[in-house]
Amino acid sequence: MTAELFREDSYRKECEATVTAVAESAVVLDRTVFYPLGGGQPGDTGTLRWGSGSARVVDTRYGDDGAITHRVEAGAELPAVGDVVQASLDWERRYRHMRMHTAMHLLGAVLKYGVTGGNITAEKSRLDFDMEDTVDKEAVGAALAALVAEDHPVSCRWISDEELDAQPELVRTMSVQPPRGEGKVRLLEIEGVDLQPCGGTHLRSTAEVGKVRIGKVEKKGRRNRRVNIHLDD
Ligand SMILES: [Zn+2]
Repeated sequence: MTAELFREDSYRKECEATVTAVAESAVVLDRTVFYPLGGGQPGDTGTLRWGSGSARVVDTRYGDDGAITHRVEAGAELPAVGDVVQASLDWERRYRHMRMHTAMHLLGAVLKYGVTGGNITAEKSRLDFDMEDTVDKEAVGAALAALVAEDHPVSCRWISDEELDAQPELVRTMSVQPPRGEGKVRLLEIEGVDLQPCGGTHLRSTAEVGKVRIGKVEKKGRRNRRVNIHLDD
């Protein structure tokens, strides 16, 4: 298993790590700051450097065994098992993912409908809502901008199944019900705005989302509205 440093500190841009496995165009480390594809958020890209070598990481995924694999460019030079590498994120791209991801939580708090899907990229993101109503783009955009301007603190914490069972009122306030049976769940809290299980990378506060704009609203079936958002800088 890979220690997931991005879960405790999403702002960490690099780390030193030891190579634990190498396959064709894939490197596994004992720890990493690279977020693996999941929850609608893309896998990170960046660079691994060691000794006199380096390789571009073009994607990050969970392997079948649960270890995080750093997928490097085809034909790239590879480190050896046991080598110590410096793993550095493409931080600008990842930071936009964090802005988008946090903005998605705000959008879900504005449109209080069930979320049936979503996807994040650095340029454009979308959430699919289980709803029949028409989306008032102007009102939703204004509500989103207000949540950004109010600068709500954002934090994550782990909570055990036992603690969840002991606090039914906490579970009731969650916008998405937490999974059980894994022993513990990672909770995201945007103070006064959202509380739900989430494993992604978020900002420290909503002001960092910055300028966000509601894009196209698509009708994908009778009970599905797809809302697109863009970062305006
Ligand atoms: Zn999240």
